[in-house]
Amino acid sequence: MTGDQSLLNYVSNRWQRSVAGEQLPVTNPATAEVLAHVPLSPAQEVDEAVQAAFEALDPWRRTPVTDRVQFLFRLKTLLEENLGDIARTITLECGKTYAESVGEMRRAIENVEVACGTPILMQGDFSEDIAGGIDEFMIRQPVGVCAIISPFNFPGMIPFWFMPYALACGNTVVVKPSERVPLTMQKIFRLLDTIDLPPGVVNLVNGAAEAANALLDHPQVQAISFVGSTKVARHVYARAAQSGKRVQAQGGAKNPIIVLPDADMEMTSRISADSAFGCAGQRCLAASLAITVGEARQPFTESIADAAATRNVGFGLDEDVQMGPVISPQSREFVESMIQKGADEGATLLIDGRKASIAGYEQGNFVRPTILQNVDPHSEVARTEIFGPVLSLVHVETIDEAIELVNSGAYGNMACLFTGSGAAARQFRYEVQSGNIGINIGVAAPMAFFPFSGWKDSFFGTLHGQSRHAVEFFTQTKVVVERWPQQWSRQF
Ligand code: NAD
Repeated sequence: MTGDQSLLNYVSNRWQRSVAGEQLPVTNPATAEVLAHVPLSPAQEVDEAVQAAFEALDPWRRTPVTDRVQFLFRLKTLLEENLGDIARTITLECGKTYAESVGEMRRAIENVEVACGTPILMQGDFSEDIAGGIDEFMIRQPVGVCAIISPFNFPGMIPFWFMPYALACGNTVVVKPSERVPLTMQKIFRLLDTIDLPPGVVNLVNGAAEAANALLDHPQVQAISFVGSTKVARHVYARAAQSGKRVQAQGGAKNPIIVLPDADMEMTSRISADSAFGCAGQRCLAASLAITVGEARQPFTESIADAAATRNVGFGLDEDVQMGPVISPQSREFVESMIQKGADEGATLLIDGRKASIAGYEQGNFVRPTILQNVDPHSEVARTEIFGPVLSLVHVETIDEAIELVNSGAYGNMACLFTGSGAAARQFRYEVQSGNIGINIGVAAPMAFFPFSGWKDSFFGTLHGQSRHAVEFFTQTKVVVERWPQQWSRQF
């Protein structure tokens, strides 16, 4: 791929050049090198993709589920064989380290594996003799054309929270990746192109808000799976609901971790640092607020400061690099402005990662790990999603205060507790208003056979991605009540 190359859409098993008037450069955030150009496909091209998906629907839903999942088995093998190449692409366009990119694709593959169990996962229920000679059963049928709109921070994994389940359940799919990281899906669709899916079953449309909105408004799209910022998630949820679609919309986060004095401090600070600074803080499950309780304050502060100061920052394909850049110069500017905001609001800058310059990568969007101490829990820096490698430290005296603080936040994506106490752990998981909970875990990312939960402003909808939730989302239930009076049940 060279910088002046324009990415293609994939519709009806054909690669198509977009008619888009506008193209955006896709840049390597570590080097500012232009990797390719992405077309901002207009609504008319979204319509073509949806039409293709609509036409493919009936024969695909009539294909037995056992045959549908055979395509996923093939895809899983191809993803394994091409894991290194795809991971490299993720690092090039998204900035995370190669090891993080491999981890991302591992979870994508795991979702394919779980979706291969759809013959069991989409089974219905049957009750015999609900009245004399009458049976009742519930079957699951596909919902129709499904659209997936994804964010920049996990270009390989996030579409896989949805796509394998949607396909296995008999739906057809249109994927719109983030315009900032479109290369990974381009690569993955090259693999999908070789597994002989019927034309129109999976389609790819590159673009930004116009393409996304065209999917939200399209009368032939029945379901929307969205992941991105809370502002856009709200918009997606409301707009798609206007035309009666089912929607799952994952939003942003501000994830707190609580550290109790009886925690294993070495482990706690090591994995908290991975949570706060891994993927340059651009995980929706990144710890961004650390609440120390009582005597945990001093040992945790010292050890997390050490972990932050010694983290090796650089280009994610270079050896021993532990943290890459943030996605764009604008993002770097925003992260640095929030660090300044924290200082202006009275926090102490324990470790200041601004104005980072990495030798050999002077054009990159680097911010080094940053720690703000004595943060006022009600200040803007403590409440706003920064999406960069910035950890704010807040101190309280009791676990009750800490939980109250966690629950006062707007988001509910993840909350973690570090402790040696089972009772404290139970109180925490029982009382905390968050969809993903970690106990002595820094990034509580659910395996593919659990739903990726999320509460409050982190999720709009009912059913989440992954596992049984995805199967339920991508199927509609039909209940049948049945009697055969002329047959052997004639006595009724
Ligand atoms: P974003 O909201 O800017 O973009 C997400 C998608 O929405 C992209 O495909 C984009 O093209 C599209 N989009 C942007 N503006 C739109 C508009 N006005 N109308 C319609 N579509 C629009 O998000 P991002 O910056 O790419 O991703 C980072 C955000 O995603 C963070 O807030 C992060 O917390 C969140 N995120 C959440 C989860 C989760 O599971 N809750 C997972 C990953 C990322």
